[in-house]
Amino acid sequence: MPLSESDIIQRFFSRDYRGHPNVMLGVGDDAAVLSVPPDKVLAVAVDSMVAGVHFPENLAARDIGYRALAVNLSDLAAMGATPLSATLALTVPEAQEEWLEEFANGFFELAEQYRVALIGGDTTRGPLTVTVEVHGLLPRGRVLKRSGASPGDLVCVTGSLGDAAAGVRLYRGALDAHPARDYLRRRLARPEPRVQAGCDLLGVASAAIDVSDGLLIDLERLTAASGVGAVVELEKLPLSNALAETFPNDARELALTGGDDYELCFTIGNEHMPRLDSLRANWACDCSVIGEIVADSQVICKEEGVVIQLPRHGFDHFRTS
Ligand code: ADP
Ligand code: MG
Repeated sequence: MPLSESDIIQRFFSRDYRGHPNVMLGVGDDAAVLSVPPDKVLAVAVDSMVAGVHFPENLAARDIGYRALAVNLSDLAAMGATPLSATLALTVPEAQEEWLEEFANGFFELAEQYRVALIGGDTTRGPLTVTVEVHGLLPRGRVLKRSGASPGDLVCVTGSLGDAAAGVRLYRGALDAHPARDYLRRRLARPEPRVQAGCDLLGVASAAIDVSDGLLIDLERLTAASGVGAVVELEKLPLSNALAETFPNDARELALTGGDDYELCFTIGNEHMPRLDSLRANWACDCSVIGEIVADSQVICKEEGVVIQLPRHGFDHFRTS
């Protein structure tokens, strides 16, 4: 017998939320109910992913579930918020048990890691689209925004850049087993939201954004919000060995303009660098200084101290060979 809408919700998306101190009511009623402690405020973000637009059609169901939550937790991380709960609006072409089970397994794998309660959602039929809304807590009066950067602050990024964009290219081909290519595909399929880094940076970083559309675009958003500019030193861009080895000619271009990395790009005053050094020792990722905030409201790139003009289309100048 085909699964009904309520069968799907019951079987795959109703997990015990008791034990989550802020969830008063979860899946099953007309709305969920959250409690927010008086010294906290709620941070809310939502992101939709459409198959073939925001992720490759051949991405495994388990990865789709994981990624849909990961990209949202990344937004909370960029605000310094601690994840609390999520809702899930799922549109699927058909009620395929195996697919739904794998999707839910991927979603809950990450949800359990960060103790995120799935508290509600919506289930509809149509072209595959996954919308997740996340809720996080911030101490009242403290938030990490895009708008706090000032001239002289250092520009930093977590992890490495360009891997996920390389992963997009690799999903277009045969999914052959190869260590470097597996790594790059995994960076697209399983972004690791920098939750620990984001929470630690609250009160330490001056501004932050998560890199979803590409470093240059996202850094421009941060500098525009802050009313400043930035100089990025190209030789300091963190590139993974897998990226440099697989796409030696395009590694830098992918790192500057490729999206989907979900690393944090943040700015920090020099005086906070010792604090950052001790915090980052507990992070599961690297953290690199890639440039500096300047008063002039533009993002420019330098290589060995020389300004490199960024062509509007294409980035041939950045090719290393
Ligand atoms: P309504 O008709 O009031 O919109 P639904 O039948 O859509 O209710 O949903 C019933 C309950 O299941 C609600 O609590 C809703 O939040 C939850 N729900 C529906 N779809 C999902 C889903 N994909 N994941 C989690 N909860 C869901
Ligand atoms: Mg509904």
